[in-house]
Amino acid sequence: MRRLLTGLLAGLALFAAPVLALDVVATSPSMGALVRAVAPSAQLTVLAGPDRDLHMLQAKPTMIRALRSADLLVAVGAELEMGWLPAASASAANPDILPGREGYFEAAAQVPLLDVGGPADRAMGDVHPAGNPHVDLDPVRMAQVAGALGARMARLDPGNAASYRANARRFAETVEQRLPQWQAQLAGAPGAVLYHRDAVYLLERFDVPLLGTIEPVPGVPPSGRDLRELAGKLRGRDGVIIHAPYHSPKGPRKLGGDLGWPVETLPLSPPVSADGDGYLRHIDRWVSAIAGA
Ligand SMILES: [Zn+2]
Repeated sequence: MRRLLTGLLAGLALFAAPVLALDVVATSPSMGALVRAVAPSAQLTVLAGPDRDLHMLQAKPTMIRALRSADLLVAVGAELEMGWLPAASASAANPDILPGREGYFEAAAQVPLLDVGGPADRAMGDVHPAGNPHVDLDPVRMAQVAGALGARMARLDPGNAASYRANARRFAETVEQRLPQWQAQLAGAPGAVLYHRDAVYLLERFDVPLLGTIEPVPGVPPSGRDLRELAGKLRGRDGVIIHAPYHSPKGPRKLGGDLGWPVETLPLSPPVSADGDGYLRHIDRWVSAIAGA
């Protein structure tokens, strides 16, 4: 009787066991926002805040611990995280989230890339040799990425497949609805100078001219001569200069002073706690900064 009861209880426990949420690690807050949009009940760890340069992070023990138990790693990709993520993943000893496995997902691998096959290469210090990885500032590409992420989560957790797919569709529909307003705000915007080629997808999406970059090559700091040449080229025009919080403000301020242009400091990612709506508010912020030039 006792054995029967134990067996019965074990059976009940199995039956009543809660569906475990997917354990997801996202490298950036943009990727985290997308995870929350597609899988609001996922257990999520975001590895870096919006004030950090994903080209330049260090693998830390807290990251390795998060990666060890993850079902899914969501990266921006195209070698953006190559300086630290492969080392962190290797230390985590979790083969399920290594590249090529179902548990490894790259946003950049889901969409067409810009800056592919350019003249610069790694030997010149270019940190974008595989094409420009910063796809996360283009809401349309992010909507496509959400669809692919929903499909991947559906395979990893078939019990919630319909919900992942429906959430991804809803995010894509919201982006679609917001596009005309962003287009209207940016129509006729004079253009922007970026510190790094990190917002080129956003500028291209809305036909805003990229007037130059503070860095002569992605990842290479400017010389005084680079800045003087840029100022000479842009004198007499209107525009805005935008740099991330981790870029030195010296070059942007010098150029802004020379040209009489506004200088904006904007993170590439929304706050760590952002969901899909938080991501869209982040795009609003960028659009306002570019439109206000
Ligand atoms: Zn970059």
